[in-house]
Amino acid sequence: MGELTSTRFDVLTLFPGFFVSPLKESIIGRAVSKGLIEIHTHNIRDFAVDKHKTTDDAPYGGGHGMVMKVEPVAACLEAVSSFATVKQPGNIPHYVILTTPQGVPLRHEMAKALVEKKRIAIICGRYEGVDERIRGLADAEVSVGDYVLTGGEIPALAIIDAVSRFVPGVLGSVGSTEEESFAGNGGITTCLLEYPQYTRPVEWRGQTVPEALLSGNHAEIKKWRRRESVRRTFERRPDLLKKADLSEADLAYVDELKKKG
Ligand code: SAM
Repeated sequence: MGELTSTRFDVLTLFPGFFVSPLKESIIGRAVSKGLIEIHTHNIRDFAVDKHKTTDDAPYGGGHGMVMKVEPVAACLEAVSSFATVKQPGNIPHYVILTTPQGVPLRHEMAKALVEKKRIAIICGRYEGVDERIRGLADAEVSVGDYVLTGGEIPALAIIDAVSRFVPGVLGSVGSTEEESFAGNGGITTCLLEYPQYTRPVEWRGQTVPEALLSGNHAEIKKWRRRESVRRTFERRPDLLKKADLSEADLAYVDELKKKG
């Protein structure tokens, strides 16, 4: 049995053209060229059985719009599993994600866990949504936020991007996923939002880089960053503070911020 060296994404969509340009650019484009990740799109319409290649139909019970039919999606998913097994030997089943605004919100920890799945199939819904029986084909239902998009293609791109950042070698610096917003692994930010970042010039239109960052004193810089992370999280996402591992100094700073209002 061969060993999977890359992470493979199979996207089931009615609009494969959506994925052409975004997946060629920048970090994801380079990861694809290096063979660290593989991304394959599959047109669900190719798996429609009637001569008109129908993939949607009116909802039972009436109502607005059309609903995606279950049979083409199921046939596409079955074909995708066999393509992957022929190309990459190894009995690893796809982890199937259905994109839906009703799903579990995509978060840092979910993206990090998904990278272990190695083969991920993503179903992109369209129209008014999907036949309820399509949910039964999925291992997970994932939302990218509390708003409704016209289709699952943008959510699929978001999932691919967020997961790919955790594939070893995709980001230039190993520390990149550890020292940023939401990372919960003992870096300066641990489950907090990232501290403010600056680059040259030191002064721009009267706005200057904080003294601590120019000091060259690593302990001072670390302390400033931690406090800024706490302050930012307090101001923007106080819900995250509840699960963050806060030190005595952090808690004292939070009290100070609360008093200041
Ligand atoms: N009528 C559906 C509802 O209210 O739940 C929304 C259907 S939406 C117009 C069409 C498709 O876009 C969905 O099936 C899903 O695949 C995708 N979609 C829209 N918003 C999304 C979100 N926030 N997260 C993930 N997928 C989303």
